[in-house]
Amino acid sequence: MAGNHIEIWNKCLSVIQDNIEAQSFETWFKPIVPLALVDNLLTIQVPSQFVYEWLETHYIELLKKTIKRVIGPDGKLDYSIIMDSGDSTSTMKLPSSNRTDPKNQLGRPAPEKLSDGPMNPFVIPGLKKLVIDPQLNENYTFDNFIEGECNRVARQGGLAIAKNPGKTAYNPLLIYSNTGLGKTHLCHAIGLETKRLHPETTVLYVQAEQFTNQYITASKNKNLNDFVHFYQMIDVLIIDDIQFLAKKTMTQETFFHIFNYLHQNNKQLVITSDKLPADLQDMEARLLSRFKWGLTAELQMPDIPTRLAILQNKLYTNGIVLSNEVVDYLASNVRTNVRELEGILISLVAQSSLNKKTITLDLTKQIIDRFIRNSVKEVSVEYIVNVVCEYFGISIDQIASSSRKQQVVQARQVAMYLSKKHSSESLTSIGMQCGKKDHATVHHACKTISDRLETDKQFKATLADIEKRILS
Ligand code: ADP
Ligand code: MG
Repeated sequence: MAGNHIEIWNKCLSVIQDNIEAQSFETWFKPIVPLALVDNLLTIQVPSQFVYEWLETHYIELLKKTIKRVIGPDGKLDYSIIMDSGDSTSTMKLPSSNRTDPKNQLGRPAPEKLSDGPMNPFVIPGLKKLVIDPQLNENYTFDNFIEGECNRVARQGGLAIAKNPGKTAYNPLLIYSNTGLGKTHLCHAIGLETKRLHPETTVLYVQAEQFTNQYITASKNKNLNDFVHFYQMIDVLIIDDIQFLAKKTMTQETFFHIFNYLHQNNKQLVITSDKLPADLQDMEARLLSRFKWGLTAELQMPDIPTRLAILQNKLYTNGIVLSNEVVDYLASNVRTNVRELEGILISLVAQSSLNKKTITLDLTKQIIDRFIRNSVKEVSVEYIVNVVCEYFGISIDQIASSSRKQQVVQARQVAMYLSKKHSSESLTSIGMQCGKKDHATVHHACKTISDRLETDKQFKATLADIEKRILS
């Protein structure tokens, strides 16, 4: 079977493509290069240690199944990892955990062989390097940006960039999300961490609006060349809220040239947007296509445990003490975005100190109501069961029964999974409300559903539909 590794890998890709989101496929699998197939052992080349770890953590089951399906039961996988050490590139071989103990492979610290950094082509011997104010906010660090499933790709990608600016596959890093979910915070964190690790690097954070204004002034004053040259000297350029450039054709044109120049010279670009590139209207296609060259990472609303961690971190750094009851209530009931969560916390503390009131659960409820008026809806297990039953056209009695009919089992498992995700109830309590089942049954249901979500696109869409009804 030796020699036809490309064909085999293409077959694997088509299986993988059918099982994951297009976005994830583009990010994690597209950049892989098949190298060899010898004795059922397929070797693939991945662009970095980070990608390798990500694949092993998130896609190992899918990879295992795919390899066995395409190559046969003896199919095995090896990685060849491109190790970038500043001025040279080497590769490191690592077996997949489908043939060794995963514990030996995961969590391996990325080799830190940072060189003295690249030579800036603009630093002419005898002349000083460009010194500019990076416009970074010292309060927005990685340390106080709490990691969760909702932001892991972006946060880890950002950390990898700060370690090795311009030398990872994440160039540009495009972070997108709705408002208030941490794009700006991450931008500053990347800039600060880059400066901490590589003080000699020229970092600049700029909002797209500010960039546009500078462009307008420069073109009025006829010194566009200076404007462009200034930006071409930056090593790590962070542009926040790129959607602001929509419809501004001339600014986009200039940004396009700066982008190309920096990218070609292995300088790092970090861009944020409140929309996916595909949804950014009135942006030039050639610019949009460049945004997809690197890593596109979405920030989502954190889940309840992450919201709790964010609140606790805020309380700790501001020396505020709140009862667990109040903190839990805040974390479970503010579901819009992190900015609002913080806003409510600040307003709560302010109210209590102004009116000399203790922060009780009642006061918390009042403030939340005032803040988000009617948009706060308690999602109870009962409500979720109702929505699920209605969706699948079965009765609540059937969910509560011990029926093993496939349709009923599926609805029951979906109700359990969604209750775990969207209510703050324990597994035991969820089990009680879904036909007096025990917590192990609920646990099993959650696992079954999340496994299926990984491989069944249609089911994923169905679930998203039900979730929308629950949360609307
Ligand atoms: P965006 O730019 O996406 O609108 P911001 O970066 O301004 O959002 O974030 C809004 C607020 O939420 C900021 O005060 C930020 O510090 C905070 N925030 C967002 N995500 C997190 C997180 N994961 N951990 C800690 N704070 C966060
Ligand atoms: Mg912002």
